[in-house]
Amino acid sequence: MVEKAVVFLLMDGARGDIINRLLAQRQLPNLEKIIQNGTYSTITSTFPTATGPAHIPFFLGRYPGDCNIPGIRWMERARKTRTQSYTSPYGYLKGDGLNEDMGRFSKTIYEKFISASIFEPVSRGATKKIFAYGHFISHIFNTWTNFDRLGLDYTTHILRKKKFQLIVTLFASIDELSHRNGCMHHKVLRAYELFDNNIGKIQRLLEDQYEDYLFIITSDHGLTDTHTHIGLVKVLKLMGFSVRSYPLNIKNGHDLFVAESGNSMAHIYFEKGHTDHNKEKIKKKLSNIKGIDLILSKNGGIRINKGDQEAIIQQSENRYKYEMIRGDPLGLGSFSGEWLGENKWHEITFASNYPDSIVQIAQIFRSARSGDIIVTADNGYDLRTFEIPEHRASHGSLLKEHMNVPVILNKKIETGLLRTTDIYTLMNDYLEVI
Ligand SMILES: [Zn+2]
Ligand SMILES: [Zn+2]
Repeated sequence: MVEKAVVFLLMDGARGDIINRLLAQRQLPNLEKIIQNGTYSTITSTFPTATGPAHIPFFLGRYPGDCNIPGIRWMERARKTRTQSYTSPYGYLKGDGLNEDMGRFSKTIYEKFISASIFEPVSRGATKKIFAYGHFISHIFNTWTNFDRLGLDYTTHILRKKKFQLIVTLFASIDELSHRNGCMHHKVLRAYELFDNNIGKIQRLLEDQYEDYLFIITSDHGLTDTHTHIGLVKVLKLMGFSVRSYPLNIKNGHDLFVAESGNSMAHIYFEKGHTDHNKEKIKKKLSNIKGIDLILSKNGGIRINKGDQEAIIQQSENRYKYEMIRGDPLGLGSFSGEWLGENKWHEITFASNYPDSIVQIAQIFRSARSGDIIVTADNGYDLRTFEIPEHRASHGSLLKEHMNVPVILNKKIETGLLRTTDIYTLMNDYLEVI
């Protein structure tokens, strides 16, 4: 029997501004109660801001690029047989796929404590794992409310046993309903309220049965409404390249492979190797397309292009330098040319359009699976040509609307500027003290 526990609820795709609005309307009474005695803050997620990769910091305390997960899809360069691609068959986020693909660089928090993971794709080492097979059914039949109810039932069932030090549950309905309907649709707002109900039930159980507990409610990324699908694959095909992309990615041997994540970011790979000429041609073409935001590529550092602006990021051990070449694509001009550490850059960029951009751009390129070019879409746009059902909201980019996430804790703590990696430390420190 354990007397203290961490309960971590991931409210997939929940936006801080919508929570604020619903709090002001007194629509989230349970959350309101927790905030009164606890902490409510905004923290910085990681790039790409997509379900799966953006969960890694919570459970490993590391960035996805450092665990070799640059997105929910990528091209597996090392695999020389059959296809060289690796893209998500539907089970990727729902089964053990992500756990197996993550490099064993460090322990997950599950491996350190008696832990249960409910519907969460990052679950390596959990004592008890409940995979989200119902995700597929919900995707087909749009039964997200039932999916979350099932998550609540498992959570309360496990809490009553008092056997687990750490209980993690993913609630998916806010994200999924936002994609289908847009972020402010009444079904989405209802999903926030239902989530608040679930919080109330869990909170009461914790109060009744545990001597002490740390209750954490957070999100993996924001979401923005999408009015235009750019169709990155179509653009590249019109340039004369042969291109494959998910889900039609079976056969290799094309010029380019495109792998999107969250629909607002994509990796572009040259399957047969690249020439500088072709790389520059693609970058130039994309930089002139309305709705394309950042274009990132490696060349003597990491180049950042935005329209006709260009800058370069260099890394040396734990320090980074941002240098403007033309214009100031990340809006950090006054710090151009300075070598600064991770936390200093976090502080500088926290309130900018691209929170933590320097550190986040550097970390994704540390993954050998990253594309030759990475593209992000601007607010209101995404990169996909089509999707069933059609997406009316997207995430995945470095924009503040995707990078900033809310965090709510039942205890008062001095948060300062936190990233999602710091939540790992918070849970670990709490559980390590007997
Ligand atoms: Zn998500
Ligand atoms: Zn999503």
